[in-house]
Amino acid sequence: MAQTLAPDALSNDADRLKALQRYGILDTPMEPAYDELADIAGHVCDAPVALISFVDRDRQWFKASLGLDLPETPLDQSVCRYAIRQSGVFIVPDLAQDPRFANLHIVTQENPMRFYAGAPIVTPDGYALGSLCVLDHRPRQLSERVAGLLSSLARQVVRLLELKRANDRQGQMLLELEEARHRMALLAHTDVLTGLANRRSFTERLRQELALLQRDGEPACLLMMDIDHFKRVNDVHGHHVGDQALQLFATLCRDVFRAADVVGRWGGEEFLALLPATGVVQAQAVAQRVHAALAEHPVPGVEPPLVLSVSMGLGNFDPARHLDMTLRALDAALYTAKREGRNRTVLV
Ligand code: GH3
Ligand code: MG
Ligand code: MG
Repeated sequence: MAQTLAPDALSNDADRLKALQRYGILDTPMEPAYDELADIAGHVCDAPVALISFVDRDRQWFKASLGLDLPETPLDQSVCRYAIRQSGVFIVPDLAQDPRFANLHIVTQENPMRFYAGAPIVTPDGYALGSLCVLDHRPRQLSERVAGLLSSLARQVVRLLELKRANDRQGQMLLELEEARHRMALLAHTDVLTGLANRRSFTERLRQELALLQRDGEPACLLMMDIDHFKRVNDVHGHHVGDQALQLFATLCRDVFRAADVVGRWGGEEFLALLPATGVVQAQAVAQRVHAALAEHPVPGVEPPLVLSVSMGLGNFDPARHLDMTLRALDAALYTAKREGRNRTVLV
């Protein structure tokens, strides 16, 4: 057998621990596949105790422990920490005769352990994470043939670990893919500048609402909103401030409208709001709150203060009417609001 190094003499333990973390095996529940390998190891070596032990920073943790009712032990009680410091199977014919192990709890306990054989569990990139080991109550030996089989079983443990890692990676990739798909779907439905629903998704929502209303839904209202003299904002303050003004409008809308309402960017500085289960009187109050909110919140960072106003057309969302007709009527009401001096709401 190869020469053993003292555990403390090793400098690469940080890398080894990192490799151990990579497999995410520590503190996972017991699994039949590991138990079965330990069982075979115990049987092949004719030993009453068989463990799959991973050597962590300050403990050894057992993924499988047959014949020993312990989930882990402190590192200073570990024989496996020696087994991982060498290649080949680490054999201690009589633990009680070895000064490194004679005082371990398993050796001094009632019905003590005397014999140890452990094959290191070595990753494809060369890190020994732990050992597949067997223990016996009597001092003894292990034939070369059986030691070879124990090493083979340790390699099977590595294959299980690699499979787990591949599965974990695949799971992670699927999760990321799902997140990306979610983000894309969100982007496809969202206006980038304002974060409001874009025209396409708003139209979709209108059609859904129409279908609901045609069945037996409560009346809904539609509000078409167009920012007043917006071209002037761009001309005087620049496109950048124009963008900020649109964002401010969207923010105020998010405050004023209720969660059930949907606000969408219909065109450049034109917005549509759907207010489900809302009568015209109620919707007029909401429109009034939009006017008030704009009056109270100038575009931030602009001097002298730049106060926006909006003109609106408000009407019932009549399920008996074609959607285009409804929109045209709203547009006409909005145009009237502009003509009558802007900063107001006109009913269809
Ligand atoms: P009215 O009161 O009659 O609505 O006048 P208006 O100036 O608001 O309307 P008009 O249609 O003449 O101008 C709208 C302007 O909005 C023109 C366009 O450049 C600007 N606009 C459209 N989309 C954006 C945008 O995303 N960012 C900025 N900064 N400006 C935009
Ligand atoms: Mg305008
Ligand atoms: Mg316009």
